[in-house]
Amino acid sequence: EQTLSVPSKIRNINELNMAEEKKDTAPDIPPTDILYLSYEGNFALTCDATVLSCESKPIQGKSDKVTEHEVNIVLDRTVMYAKGGGQPSDVGKIIPAQFFPPDDTAAVVAEISTVSLDRASGIASHVGTVADTVSPAKDFSPGTAVKILVSPDLRHIHSECQTAGHVVDSVMDRIGLGLRPIKGYHFLDSPYVEYKGKIEENERADVLEKMKVAFRDLVNEDIKTTIDNLPVDEAEAECNRLSQNFDFTEYRKSSNLEVRIVRVAGWPVPCGGTHVRSTGVLKQNGWGITGLRCKKGVVRVKYNRGCDNEQK
Ligand SMILES: [Zn+2]
Repeated sequence: EQTLSVPSKIRNINELNMAEEKKDTAPDIPPTDILYLSYEGNFALTCDATVLSCESKPIQGKSDKVTEHEVNIVLDRTVMYAKGGGQPSDVGKIIPAQFFPPDDTAAVVAEISTVSLDRASGIASHVGTVADTVSPAKDFSPGTAVKILVSPDLRHIHSECQTAGHVVDSVMDRIGLGLRPIKGYHFLDSPYVEYKGKIEENERADVLEKMKVAFRDLVNEDIKTTIDNLPVDEAEAECNRLSQNFDFTEYRKSSNLEVRIVRVAGWPVPCGGTHVRSTGVLKQNGWGITGLRCKKGVVRVKYNRGCDNEQK
């Protein structure tokens, strides 16, 4: 027995050593703490964080001179919105705490152009560039304390666009069209929400007019946005109270048994986006419903900024 047990122990020790070695070169990175999912986090535009990893590659300009470095930074937490759910990514800056606030001469700043969230691992990647004078390996080495700054204007308009999309959902309820939402596109070029169902051709002009009025009313009522992370049963009960509009099957498969429920204009939906504090905020930029398209059993409700929302 002894002769057998010795090699097996050695084998186990070798495996252990190999596992530890592997851990040294490629540390397990935990899921990123996504701060914008909470109510207060939804409005936060800055936070402190710690670098967990930073990959980089030089970008060469003319005559092979390195002009800047592309970086992919993973942090322990973030306030930057990761693209997805029909909303574009935030842009912003990541600055090592020791260089904050940055001076104009030799700024060590990562200009982040895209944040993406890997759904399987829960890790958010911040991709952008640093100047050629910056050493990504040194200035953004694991353990470095950093400040994250979200570009406020772009975040605000994306939050308005996202929120206005929810108001469209509430409009559908208010005018008694209980159609199931199937897609939201909350990009600034041509935002819309799509529903399964149809509206008869001879009724469309009338329905569109009712929608425009209902949207304007909901904005004027200045209804507060609320955000709660609820157990999946509670979330499903609330969202499907008035109509069987949402399928929670996917949420039940997830290991995270809480669902983020966002209520805009009084209408609850599961959503991961960023939002403005109340429907009244949408007034300044004149958000409203602009058009209706019905095709192949899908109703597309278009909405946008710059509508004339004066009561007639
Ligand atoms: Zn939303």
